[in-house]
Amino acid sequence: MKTLPRQVFRTILQQTTWHMSGSIFLVGLMGTGKTTIGRALAKKLDKRFVDSDHEIELRTGASIPMIFEIEGEESFRKREADVIRELSAQKNIVLATGGGAVLRAETRACLKQHGTVIYLRADVNQILQRAGRDKNRPLLQTADPRKKLEELSRQREPYYQEVADFIIETSRPNMRLLVQFIMSRLELMPEHTAVSTSTPASLNRLPAEPVMSVLPHAPITLQVDLEKRSYPITIGHGLLSDSSLLTRHIAGKHAVIVTNDKVGPLYLAQVRKLLEDAGKQVTGIVLPDGEETKNWTSLMKMFDVLLTEKCDRKTTMIALGGGVIGDLTGFAAATYMRGVPFVQIPTTLLAQADSSVGGKTGINHPLGKNMIGAFHQPQAVIADTATLHTLPARELSAGLAEVIKHGAIIDISFFGWIETNIGKLMVRDNVALAYAIQHSCKIKADVVRQDEREGGLRAILNFGHTFGHAIESGLGYGQWLHGEAVGCGMVMAADLSYRLGYIDATAKNRLTALVKAAGLPATAPDLGLSRWLELMEIDKKNENGRTRFILLKPLGHSLVTDVPQNLLLQTLTACTPPLTPSLPCSTTD
Ligand code: NAD
Ligand code: MG
Repeated sequence: MKTLPRQVFRTILQQTTWHMSGSIFLVGLMGTGKTTIGRALAKKLDKRFVDSDHEIELRTGASIPMIFEIEGEESFRKREADVIRELSAQKNIVLATGGGAVLRAETRACLKQHGTVIYLRADVNQILQRAGRDKNRPLLQTADPRKKLEELSRQREPYYQEVADFIIETSRPNMRLLVQFIMSRLELMPEHTAVSTSTPASLNRLPAEPVMSVLPHAPITLQVDLEKRSYPITIGHGLLSDSSLLTRHIAGKHAVIVTNDKVGPLYLAQVRKLLEDAGKQVTGIVLPDGEETKNWTSLMKMFDVLLTEKCDRKTTMIALGGGVIGDLTGFAAATYMRGVPFVQIPTTLLAQADSSVGGKTGINHPLGKNMIGAFHQPQAVIADTATLHTLPARELSAGLAEVIKHGAIIDISFFGWIETNIGKLMVRDNVALAYAIQHSCKIKADVVRQDEREGGLRAILNFGHTFGHAIESGLGYGQWLHGEAVGCGMVMAADLSYRLGYIDATAKNRLTALVKAAGLPATAPDLGLSRWLELMEIDKKNENGRTRFILLKPLGHSLVTDVPQNLLLQTLTACTPPLTPSLPCSTTD
């Protein structure tokens, strides 16, 4: 499908009433926007909007909670199925169905047969915000609505996917854009003329894409749920052209963009223009590229500029770059005047899928990496996948290491998805990248929500890092990229998990193969056994004199543990090139 320039697209949508026959059915959990989006869509498409819950209330004269209470859920479902059967036979409607309607096979068949089914999907945090306190949701009247919603989501997801022609993520609460995406997905947009009067042949049977369902140009918004410190992460292609996306997070008049001499020439002017067009006063700080910049001297240089420019507590700092710029800017924002707001615009895959989320900020000390820092959450993260097209290939692979990590430690089905789509990720397919970033951020945000300041659970995000850090400092920083060291470190951690009987050989081989397919090294440098042990002992995850490892048990789950020295030595020997006759190498890669 060709895409028109956004401005043209908007104008056309505003001016045109679309005509098409055929009905549209919206399915999805409560609070995903079925009614609101349904109404807007019906208006655009010149159709009648019907809501099955409303229709039931009209027919029975009783509210949904009352029907639940008097007749029970089963009886309600029966009424719902009857109403949907009747309505779906009508021509030219947009029907918002109740969240549980898809549980009946009969209803699913009915919807499939009579029109286009769109699954509106939002994450549980968003739904809770929208519907959590709504007394008209009988299923949420429990002590723990989150748990209930997670349960409903798990139970119903397969049915929504089965019945849907396509899926739209609705976490981003921008109605106009969502309707626009749906319209473009319906392929209503003719390629050469502004007015469509016929039904596109493809309307009634678009192929379902249950996983890769996000339009290349449809931004996705996730919420990092940290009470007052909550913030949105928006992921999409071309977001740096959307001025309101950024400016809505800049409360004061003054914004300071921090970037480096590699990223600045590529994107600084664009970001500056967005802000200046919105009437902001903009200061740019361009630092030298490289990890060495993440130090005290750069921090002082930044403070010099902030003070000279008379930046006050309302000034917003904007990190435009990879993890180095993100960590540094975040730390400056955490400490300047005891804390000013900041926004992350990450431009590397590592920063988009990992470092920009979670609020860890800091600088390096000559005696240790990331040793000085603060927790400071951003106002927003804006991840434009278009910026990844200028990223060097090695950096792309390094970012993939952290994406793979998220699947390996928490989500086996995401891990499987990465295996299937690694080819697309390597050629920077925008849809695949957006999906991988979205999923990574979701996993990281969920861990951070549960353990913001790394009291426990958050440590699992260091999977592969104990070995990885040893490689980085053993070889000297800058020899291997952090992601490369983590990639290899994950292979080593999988080897150790295997030796402990936590995972089988297949799982270990799957991880190794994926690391290699992502263009990452799977064989560790030979630092010498004693140097390896020494380096791992000084890693900061070393507690009470024992080195703690994050291991897989099984693939898709992780645990933190210390390990017997003899097994660790076996792993070190097996994963480094065999120089001298050593312990048997049992890696199967
Ligand atoms: P980086 O910031 O050095 O970026 C990598 C390279 O890519 C640099 O040369 C950079 O200038 C260049 N670059 C960035 N965006 C580009 C683009 N769009 N096009 C072309 N070139 C581009 O490194 P990184 O891998 O993004 O981040 C690593 C840093 O992140 C480390 O300092 C690490 O400690 C930190 N980190 C922090 C966290 C956290 O939670 N805060 C997590 C992981 C890593
Ligand atoms: Mg890392």
